[in-house]
Amino acid sequence: MAAKTTRKPLIAANWKMNFNTSEAVQFAKKFKGLISEVSNTDILICAPFTCLESLKSALSGSKVKLGAQNLFYEEQGTFTGEISARMISPYCTHVIVGHSERRKLFNESNSDVNRKIKKALEQKLTPILCIGESLEERKAGKTKQVLEKKLSECLKGISKDQAKNIVLTYEPIWAISKGKNDIAKSEAASPKTAQEGHAFLRSLFAAHFGKESAENVLILYGGSMKPANVKQLMAEEDIDGGLVGGASLDPESLSKVVKFGVD
Ligand code: PEP
Repeated sequence: MAAKTTRKPLIAANWKMNFNTSEAVQFAKKFKGLISEVSNTDILICAPFTCLESLKSALSGSKVKLGAQNLFYEEQGTFTGEISARMISPYCTHVIVGHSERRKLFNESNSDVNRKIKKALEQKLTPILCIGESLEERKAGKTKQVLEKKLSECLKGISKDQAKNIVLTYEPIWAISKGKNDIAKSEAASPKTAQEGHAFLRSLFAAHFGKESAENVLILYGGSMKPANVKQLMAEEDIDGGLVGGASLDPESLSKVVKFGVD
């Protein structure tokens, strides 16, 4: 496998259902100043749909990109409450798909996620595909089986060329925090356990799309990443960045993650 240095790290905030528009804009103004010197890491904020337009203006002139947290797989029509790829594409470069919270709370299947990925790619959005195992699955020794099934079903029918525009996230479900008030005490996977998951996902990606695609694909880690553990996690060979939930809700904390914990 190629050295990690060929892949530029990406830190992606997943704000989940937090912040109204004015709170989001206030965050952006403060955050911009805190990361103005950062050049070796790409930075992305995946915000609620309602904040995207205002955030785009607030973040203009900064290197922070915007993403959405979901999309629907149809283009338009009688789908009350849904948002299409075409609606978010003016504001976003990326979109999260297959997050475990959506799988659990909204019954999203691998086949739904697959359709979402295809629609995102059609609109030139980079899908951030989340894949991970539950605690029960890990305890039952089924981690690899679960990761393999999710990856192959979510990426069914995706070409090698399309695969260049996909970001993966290894999110062990048992390591995901319950948000801002939980992040200080919640525990991430150990760097070794996270690395095992990442290396396995990269090998699966190679089996599907070839060695070169696997060398280039970014694989983020998600699950209680924070200033206190980001450096150790990022030191692992196959960890190319993070999807950051609880620790992304404060500008100082997110800026420390972006700087790998170093001020
Ligand atoms: C997430 O759910 O995307 C996530 C990684 O959350 P947290 O960082 O709070 O564990």
